[in-house]
Amino acid sequence: MNYSISKKWFVMFGKCLIQFICHWCALILFGLTVFVKPLLALDLSRAAEIKECAVGEISTWTDGVDKAVPYTSINFLYNPTGAPPWFSENLVTDLIQQAANIWSACGISAQTSIGNQPHYLLNNEIVISWNDAKSQGNIGASDISQRRLYLSPSVFKTLREMRPTYDSSYTLQMTLSHEMGHFYGLVAHSKRCVDVLSYYKSNSGDLCTIRDRAEFSKVIEYRSALPTACDIERCKRVNH
Ligand SMILES: [Zn+2]
Repeated sequence: MNYSISKKWFVMFGKCLIQFICHWCALILFGLTVFVKPLLALDLSRAAEIKECAVGEISTWTDGVDKAVPYTSINFLYNPTGAPPWFSENLVTDLIQQAANIWSACGISAQTSIGNQPHYLLNNEIVISWNDAKSQGNIGASDISQRRLYLSPSVFKTLREMRPTYDSSYTLQMTLSHEMGHFYGLVAHSKRCVDVLSYYKSNSGDLCTIRDRAEFSKVIEYRSALPTACDIERCKRVNH
């Protein structure tokens, strides 16, 4: 009798234990599905980082404050005077327009034209020109208040001398996309390595963020040549 009660209790206890374990299994499996699966599904490749902006990935260095721009369209006026001879007018304007086409996803359209800037600049006109002095040793520089974007002929010349087989139009595309981003209200630089608005390392030695650090050294330039999903998302947040 005692044995049968004990046995019954044991069987009931066993059932409860199994049910309890199974409920926890279910919860654990549910947890794995909800929390782990998305992590596993997150593509760690550079191409995916360019296309996707995951929750929490937008972050900036503390080197500026983003500000909405007072226009909904931009005219980029390209002045080819002083350009390195291997960068034709058509090539540079194509690169400007390609960057502008991606930036337009932010809700600000843009068009590009060639020529000097003979008149007083309108509010939404940005002049792109070649000028070593104004670039101040950088490959490109932006004077936001004066609405001027400068490219450095000498830095591109040095790049070509150092690496004659490298297609420097990629670097020009990246430089244009980056500097143009400052005219879409993105004043601060991105901490995310792949963003076109990024820089890789702060003065205090802090590194940019990346989904998979091992990927960083697999390419010559991890930064995208064109605006990424996070660049665009930040632009939208600033301007809308
Ligand atoms: Zn910059």
